[in-house]
Amino acid sequence: MFEEEYRLDYFKDNGFVRKECMECGSYFWTLDEEMKTCQDAPCTEFDFIGDPPADRSLDVDEMREFFIDFFADRGHTPLDRYPVVARWRDDVLLVHASIYDFQPHVTSGQVPPPANPLVVSQPCIRLPDVDEVGRTGKHQTAFEMLGHHSFNREDDLVYWKEETVEYCHEFLKDLGIDEELIAYKEHPWIGGGNAGPSLEVNVQGLEVSTLVFMNLEKDIGGEIDLDGERYIPLDLNVVDTGYGLERLTWVTEGSPTIYDSVYPDMIGYIIEMLGFDHPLDDEDYFTMLREYTNLAGTSDKDYRDEKLLDDLMDKLSDQNVDMERQWVTEKLSTLRSIYTLADHSYTIALMLSDGIVPSNVEEGYLVRMMIRRALRQVERLEKDLSLKCLVEKQMDIHSSIIEKGKKSLVFEILDEEVEKYYKTVEKGKRMVKRELQDMGSGESLSTDKLIDFYDTHGIHPTIVKELSEEFDIKVNIPADFNAMLAEMHEKSSEDTVVESDKVISEWEGLPETDPLYYHNPNARTFDSVVIGSKEGEVILDRTLFYPEGGGQPADHGVLITEDSSYPVNHVRKEDGIIIHEIEGEIEEGEPVKGKVDWDRRIALTRHHSATHIIMSAAREVLGDHVWQKGAKKDVDSARLDLSHFRRISRKEIKDIERIANQRVLEDIPVKKEELTRDEAEKRFGFKLYQGGVPESDIIRVVHISDVEDYDAQACGGTHVNSTSEVGPIKVLSTQRIQDGVERLTYSAGMATVEHVQHQEDLLKETASKFNVDLEDLPDTAERFFTEWKQRGKEIEKLKKYRSIAMAEELLPGEESNGLEIVMDVVDMGSKEMLATAERISSEEGRVVLLASEGDNVDLVFSRSDELDLNMVEILNESAKEVHGGGGGSPKTAQGGGSNPEGRKKALEKAKELVLKRI
Ligand SMILES: [Zn+2]
Ligand SMILES: [Zn+2]
Repeated sequence: MFEEEYRLDYFKDNGFVRKECMECGSYFWTLDEEMKTCQDAPCTEFDFIGDPPADRSLDVDEMREFFIDFFADRGHTPLDRYPVVARWRDDVLLVHASIYDFQPHVTSGQVPPPANPLVVSQPCIRLPDVDEVGRTGKHQTAFEMLGHHSFNREDDLVYWKEETVEYCHEFLKDLGIDEELIAYKEHPWIGGGNAGPSLEVNVQGLEVSTLVFMNLEKDIGGEIDLDGERYIPLDLNVVDTGYGLERLTWVTEGSPTIYDSVYPDMIGYIIEMLGFDHPLDDEDYFTMLREYTNLAGTSDKDYRDEKLLDDLMDKLSDQNVDMERQWVTEKLSTLRSIYTLADHSYTIALMLSDGIVPSNVEEGYLVRMMIRRALRQVERLEKDLSLKCLVEKQMDIHSSIIEKGKKSLVFEILDEEVEKYYKTVEKGKRMVKRELQDMGSGESLSTDKLIDFYDTHGIHPTIVKELSEEFDIKVNIPADFNAMLAEMHEKSSEDTVVESDKVISEWEGLPETDPLYYHNPNARTFDSVVIGSKEGEVILDRTLFYPEGGGQPADHGVLITEDSSYPVNHVRKEDGIIIHEIEGEIEEGEPVKGKVDWDRRIALTRHHSATHIIMSAAREVLGDHVWQKGAKKDVDSARLDLSHFRRISRKEIKDIERIANQRVLEDIPVKKEELTRDEAEKRFGFKLYQGGVPESDIIRVVHISDVEDYDAQACGGTHVNSTSEVGPIKVLSTQRIQDGVERLTYSAGMATVEHVQHQEDLLKETASKFNVDLEDLPDTAERFFTEWKQRGKEIEKLKKYRSIAMAEELLPGEESNGLEIVMDVVDMGSKEMLATAERISSEEGRVVLLASEGDNVDLVFSRSDELDLNMVEILNESAKEVHGGGGGSPKTAQGGGSNPEGRKKALEKAKELVLKRI
């Protein structure tokens, strides 16, 4: 595929040769005529370990700087990194590559790039290999992708393949890497609906970068056939390069694992805490680790455990390294936890400081999974390690990437999350145990069940496995269990990018409706002409009616023609065409006058502007991590769902309310601006996209500002012109709608007045019932409550005395077979009957059988301790007479039935049974 695409002048002019890998058959370009393989694992082992191909080594910070400087010197504009959570996209959750920063609007050509060409070091989080981290020596969950990108049009070519390969080669040479060791492997790239030729750049077993030339796009009618799919050429040709920052560092340092190169301080700290010996300067120890990484890091995930260890021990004895297998096993097992913690603590620091709040959905689920995975490693090492401490260290070490100011937020979230984890595990273990108990021994658990245990009880399969041993239940944990979880919760860009399955409107072909509600936000009536019509639906050339959208319901009102008027019940928008749903039909071509129900519109508008104000107030009070998870505006109230890691306190609600009302009183202008996407992002950042990411390249920004920016959001709703028009804002309630998401319900304007009046009515009514002033209400209510409790206690006491009296009254019973049997129909409640019966049977030789008066028959049977009678059995037998049954203990049984006719018979029957069984 693309074979011609790789015959570059650069290769030809500089003496590169094209060769075929003797292991995998791929083609690659190299300066070394003798090179046998493509230099990628597993065709080649990691030959750089212990013998790096470069004449100097750089740590990650130095490497990042070196790369950025190299490309800045060659005309590339350095960009600041983007967050790891892809706020500007709604098709993916986490950033997987530097090109994500520019998808979809820049790469589609809709929006100009922020600079061209540009260079960026973008932290990325990828979880498909999460189970391999710590085990293979090379997999990471967080890494930085160094990328230089150019965006080319036919009439505006920046640079394409020749320059890209030359830059790459010069860069690696500048780094001191021996150029004879570099191989450029031909590797067509297909993904996310795009495709193009690409070169993998390999050095001694490690792919250090990928150079992708994106020039094709999936299209059913395309003429280019790739893997059975059709493609057409793209207008915009994108150079998408990705250099692994950590891999470059690893290659130049030649450490036995990538973790030893990237996290030396972190690992140093952990081994010191553990008192673990990790002597990388010991030749045999180094060899052992090198060979381990060569085996685990160059093969697939099924190659592990005993099989891998067998091969490792063989390799060691070939090299005359004398080590105990048991010792090696233990070392590797502990190292795996240490490496995993070094990796995960960094990933967690990055995710939390970039504003992800743990929850059970989306990115919140993923960070929770990482935290719990790290906590299990901490537990496994059984030492005084604290995850919080590890995360703090990572934030200090990586201060060039992670904002220091985020520390207190990260700690607060971690504290909550760790506490929640231990509570969940304790409870979850009990639930899982109960389910295991119900299974037969020897049975095995399905993977679905393991996922279910994790998602509903928070119990990881490793814990399930421990628990199941007791019940002899087999548990087979898939090697990629966590990756499976992550995949289920991560959206995939692969399926969502290209063809959007848009519903085609039946009104397609009509011109887009002119939205007068934007031009004249205060107008209430308008004139227009019907340009599309059918029974129940009308399209006008222009309209003041706001169609439902962005959590704001549609306007209502009326359309008036010369001879009739038609109520508008709903308004919607399809492809720019606004459809009015009416009662009846208006003919095409007819002029109409429209009148918007202003009370409704202004209430919705106030609630919409109030939502923006509340959002910003919440960010101010709770922190920057707060993100809108949903919103709904209505006439009486509005609600906003926020990501937050704990319940919002009463004090915080009052603060939010106070700040929101302050903004109202400050009379701040609410501006609506149409901005290009890149300008809007530059000015306001990604918090623009609280309410979702618009598709267009021009964005309507609603912007509450005075001197400083208070709030700015991409929003298509109707808004007031100044905050003072919103009127008073009142938070009505908060609710936890799911773990990590808090719902605020509030009102604005007249709705607030009505809510406050209603609450005052309730209070006044209550005060008048107590016959006191409003001020005295709390004290009075408390006094009444205390007295009420006191009386309850007195009533209990009186009942006790009454049961003593009743017992006296019922005694003595009838002597029979040496027993004293007390049998009677009594006028008592069931509790009293019980007290009376137990009082009577507290002395030796007595049986008491009581039935209540009334249509429902209560039965209480009791006997003295020393008698060998099961009163529950006797009660159930005899209660058949009253069509009922009961329960209790062998000494005292309680029950009843609904047939009063059988009352006497039931007692007789019970007496008979007692005499028979004694
Ligand atoms: Zn190969
Ligand atoms: Zn809005």
